[in-house]
Amino acid sequence: MKCPHCQVEINPDFKEYYIGGYENEMFYSVFYMRCQNPKCKSPIITLGKSKQADRGTGMLYGSSITYQQIYPIGSNRAPAPVEVESKFAEDYNEACFVLPFSPKASAALSRRCLQNIIRLKEGIRERNLKTEIDKLIATNKLPSYISDNLEIIRGFGNIAAHGMEDQVSGEILDVEPNEAEFLLDVLELLFDLYFVQAAKAAKMKAALNQKLTSAGQKPIP
Ligand SMILES: [Zn+2]
Repeated sequence: MKCPHCQVEINPDFKEYYIGGYENEMFYSVFYMRCQNPKCKSPIITLGKSKQADRGTGMLYGSSITYQQIYPIGSNRAPAPVEVESKFAEDYNEACFVLPFSPKASAALSRRCLQNIIRLKEGIRERNLKTEIDKLIATNKLPSYISDNLEIIRGFGNIAAHGMEDQVSGEILDVEPNEAEFLLDVLELLFDLYFVQAAKAAKMKAALNQKLTSAGQKPIP
């Protein structure tokens, strides 16, 4: 598993603390560990519940067992890369944060973030998000692994039906199962393309131009 604090790969080494059974006929345990990364060492706390528990050993078992991370709060996704401008990064980070509590709120933030990328980075501004995605795909500028995924997003029921029209901005659309998470995955790809790779390319060009200039040659425009 990845540590939700530092995103480094760690061994899930949880200790179980049995709390007991409650009125809803579920049994509860708290699971606790510290990240093994010496630079992090942060605590990770999960609440487990199950219909079955062994009171002798104080352990949950059974197929009904579920876990919910209670510390740190939020999803396990890494924040937006530092290269991403704050007006995009803020919506994305907040969409990650609220994901476990409200996929609908998360998807609303992600859709707005996606729309802002299309409008501000590509200058495509249409009546609704669906048409904007269509136009972006039609530019043929995107690698296929991104345009294929954008086609999936465009096909999600509520974007296809209502499309986030400007006239009803602020409307919270329903969300399909996995849609909220998938939107975040695609935003991650777009961040990489529009910000991380772009910054890398600009850095390479600057280094080359410095070499050219110091050799008395004309820099690349
Ligand atoms: Zn860590």
